[in-house]
Amino acid sequence: MTNIETIIQRHAGDPTRLLDMLRDVQAARGCVDRVSRAALAKALRMSEADVEGIVSFYHFFSRTPAGRYAVYLNTNVIAWMNGRAAVARAFEREAGVRFGRTAPDGLIGLFQTSCIGMNDQEPSAVINGVVFTRLTEAKVKDIVAGMRAGRPAAELVGELGDGANQHALVRAMVANNIRAAGPVVFGPHEPGRGLRKAVGLTPEAVIAEVKASNLLGRGGAGFPTGLKWDFCRREKGDRHYVVCNADEGEPGTFKDRVILTERPGLLFEGMAVAGYAVGAAEGILYLRAEYAYLKPYLESVLDGLRREGLLGKGAAGKAGFDFDIVIKLGAGAYICGEESALIESAEGKRGEPRDRPPFPVQVGYLNEPTIVNNVETLCCAARIMAEGAAWFKSMGTAKSAGTKLLSVSGDCERPGVYEVAFGLTVRQLLDMAGAPGAAAVQVGGPSGSCIGPDGFKRAICFGDLPTGGSIMIFGPERDLLEVVRGFMEFFVEESCGWCVPCRAGNVLLLRKLEKVLDGKGNARDLEELVAWGAVVKTTSRCGLGQTSANPILTTLANFRGLYEARLRSGADADAVLDFDLAAAMEASCRAAGRPIPSPEAHHG
Ligand code: SF4
Repeated sequence: MTNIETIIQRHAGDPTRLLDMLRDVQAARGCVDRVSRAALAKALRMSEADVEGIVSFYHFFSRTPAGRYAVYLNTNVIAWMNGRAAVARAFEREAGVRFGRTAPDGLIGLFQTSCIGMNDQEPSAVINGVVFTRLTEAKVKDIVAGMRAGRPAAELVGELGDGANQHALVRAMVANNIRAAGPVVFGPHEPGRGLRKAVGLTPEAVIAEVKASNLLGRGGAGFPTGLKWDFCRREKGDRHYVVCNADEGEPGTFKDRVILTERPGLLFEGMAVAGYAVGAAEGILYLRAEYAYLKPYLESVLDGLRREGLLGKGAAGKAGFDFDIVIKLGAGAYICGEESALIESAEGKRGEPRDRPPFPVQVGYLNEPTIVNNVETLCCAARIMAEGAAWFKSMGTAKSAGTKLLSVSGDCERPGVYEVAFGLTVRQLLDMAGAPGAAAVQVGGPSGSCIGPDGFKRAICFGDLPTGGSIMIFGPERDLLEVVRGFMEFFVEESCGWCVPCRAGNVLLLRKLEKVLDGKGNARDLEELVAWGAVVKTTSRCGLGQTSANPILTTLANFRGLYEARLRSGADADAVLDFDLAAAMEASCRAAGRPIPSPEAHHG
């Protein structure tokens, strides 16, 4: 029996577990090679092209050998601000190979990856699934020496982090950095209290309580949670599903990582409450690949809940309520944070967004009615059932009830997680984090808004400045337009390539931005950045393309002087410089893994 057959059998030949199979193949062979792809395609009755399309979609799968140690170094802007360049050079020097390549002896491969949820402890990297934080040149030297000695990546971890990061099943050097523990997620909670109260009510009464609490989805969009549950419960289907979106991929956010580490029982309780409310027997925790190091620990927490009778047959003592939870791992793709793309990925496919309607509450996982809720939202739901809607609504603002977890990083003294009541101003948050001299704050990640001191009086809440949790702070010494360039490169890389406005439009925006940064732009280029940004925003199919122009649009609105200072002046200021559309198209196709059009196609 070959390794591939063993792996397929381990996952019962179930096509919805294809990502698990690919993950195992990648770990066993260092890549998903042609032979493996063909064997998987045959066993799962798929075409080889389909399997190849899935492998090429995700960052953590490779078709060529990635090395016995595959190093994925975080490339987000906060990492660069904390010395990433020196760390990258140290890896190249010590490993003897450049980024994007695998050493000729096959020992070490060096790769870039988007935000891995460690912005409060950069520079960071994932090596064979193990997270390394606060990297320095000296640490890199030790890590590579350990690789050459053949030690497993887990043994190369230095000092362990705090709390459950020290648990025997975690043993991570990740720090929680909880700077403000608020009353909802980090407040005292008797395990199971919310679920036991819920199953003492009718499902309709549970939904009514969540509606009365005015709980809005914490992932960023702010859809009313009770309404989503109500829609799902009313849909007819063979089975209903609860999916927890633990794929926090928005650069700068890491608060779900801390919840998963310190409050997993509360999260699973919230999933069970949701399952009871919508009539589901199965919950799926979709865990981003970067947090795979938490999976054994999370499985042990689930086992404990089963032993306590809070999950499984007759959960929480309620006859007929048989609810349990499985964990599915992603494989590295920002777009999988979008709920329909996440469902596709959980089904073992490319994580491409679906057309909507129908919405997941109607046609979701395996085409059954499904709710997808954020980690923090589900924790809030468990607490609302335990303490009541009135308690929850007593915090926050009239329209944004409760607390919000914020992931604060960048130029501040105290990066980390802050649980604060909605309505806190940006200025108050900056004072808490130790950033009195901030020049700019990116609220809500690259897809959110970049504001300057004029906006620091604004309130963090759905009615003013909404955020899924990412808060990145930039001091006056930072080149904000280089930050914007980094964000646009991120969107070009992460576009799934399905629709043209996003696939090509983001590349065009990036090129135009670079023209301005290179001192070759004029006033017309700024007008075109606004006009093209609006086109990408309004014509893209999903949230990624609908928000990807925001780094440019919000900095043009709030920091226009930075752009104008880079424009050409003098006699040639209005001259139109050449723009190479063919080159832009080729770059966008390469980034999205799509075929490159022939030259004729550009003129056809
Ligand atoms: Fe894919 Fe971008 Fe279109 Fe969304 S907007 S479907 S990410 S190409």
